[in-house]
Amino acid sequence: MRILLVEDEKKMRSLLKQGLEEQGYAVDTADNGDDGLHWALNFSYDVLVLDIMLPGKDGLTVCRELRNQRIITPVLMLTARDAVDDRVAGLDCGADDYLVKPFAFRELLARIRALSRRDSVQKSATLVVGDLRLDTVTHLAQRGDQLIALSTKEYALLELLMQHPNHVLSRTIIAEHLWSYDGFPDSNVVDVYIRYLRKKIDDDHEDKYIRTIRGTGYQLVDPHQA
Ligand code: CA
Repeated sequence: MRILLVEDEKKMRSLLKQGLEEQGYAVDTADNGDDGLHWALNFSYDVLVLDIMLPGKDGLTVCRELRNQRIITPVLMLTARDAVDDRVAGLDCGADDYLVKPFAFRELLARIRALSRRDSVQKSATLVVGDLRLDTVTHLAQRGDQLIALSTKEYALLELLMQHPNHVLSRTIIAEHLWSYDGFPDSNVVDVYIRYLRKKIDDDHEDKYIRTIRGTGYQLVDPHQA
């Protein structure tokens, strides 16, 4: 998943970016509202984390302008104080949730997970396709009885594939969800991570979950249904 974090406090911004990256998220950052709006309008994100008090356009204005331009990406607002007016204003301008500073990092993670499930049929924290399961809290995968530990990138890749079962995802789409603007890889890096992931979930089995769609990309399909 790729997240845009708009936060002007430098220390907070770098701590959150580092923490989220350790969880396997790709994170782009902006330190003011105008840049944040630009990024959100021009790139595709799974979740936006938007501070309210920002130089330039404030978070409420950024959120309102995004919604006016039909950008429906889930927005999590960060409010500086537990003021009812701030929360109401945030929700009224089209934010989906808010978090009051200071907050526990694991609460931020839980809210991001909940927002990313918002439009999904899957409302639980575990993604399930056939006998393949992925726990989005512990990042452990399971195929049948076998528990599978994943690296952060392998986890992010499997999560993306399992969120869109039966959909063909191009290398570009995969790269855009897994890497930030700064870390954007060569397109063959996606193939490398697909190979790592196959080694862990498919290589020991006759039935394969991950399919290569030649010239297009990759698809995750329940082999027992196909
Ligand atoms: Ca601020």
